[in-house]
Amino acid sequence: MIIVLGVPGVGKSTVLNKVKVCCHDWEIVNWGDVMFAEAKKKFGIKHRDEIRKLRVEEQKTLQKHAALAIKEKDKELHGKVIVDTHCSIFTPSGYLPGLPYEILKLLHPSHLILLTAKPEEILVRRLKDKGRIREPNIEQIREHLRMNEMFLATYATLSSSPCIVVHNSDGGLDRAVKQIVDVLNRVVCDWNG
Ligand code: AMP
Ligand code: MG
Repeated sequence: MIIVLGVPGVGKSTVLNKVKVCCHDWEIVNWGDVMFAEAKKKFGIKHRDEIRKLRVEEQKTLQKHAALAIKEKDKELHGKVIVDTHCSIFTPSGYLPGLPYEILKLLHPSHLILLTAKPEEILVRRLKDKGRIREPNIEQIREHLRMNEMFLATYATLSSSPCIVVHNSDGGLDRAVKQIVDVLNRVVCDWNG
């Protein structure tokens, strides 16, 4: 399993949709989709961007549920899974780790990939995406990017998995996609010895 992490609006889903075009044997699993399906049933929320406003304990319950479901999917697909998720979640109570220790141990990722971009680029992408409710604050984005690098190093240390930082700069989408495809190809080579 490969886990791709990044702040809202950095372009995780856009990049991964392009990765999927040339790596169709890999399945993309969106953590937010799994959490949102359960959050609608359990807490009656209407929009996926309301998840991070739920009580921390409620978010943790949803997070654990999603991790178990994703683990099952990974078993079904024999590890050819790319998970689209968040490194940390900006909640009213603080930055919630996207991959707490118990979950890292359960999922056992082979690689962690942090997708990043300049705060100015992320701000513009957020403002353009009218379907989402995201923080339109450059200082908050800057802080979140800094926090995510620290979370990433912690996750890599706790899981002994290599981590990679991929820049999804304006005009650099194909380059970001290629970097991730290269990782997938290397993983398959390693598996096949
Ligand atoms: P997304 O569509 O990727 O922005 O995900 C929607 C929402 O799902 C996020 O804003 C978070 O509230 C939640 N989410 C996604 N991944 C995680 C995670 N690993 N841990 C906790 N919440 C998550
Ligand atoms: Mg997305």
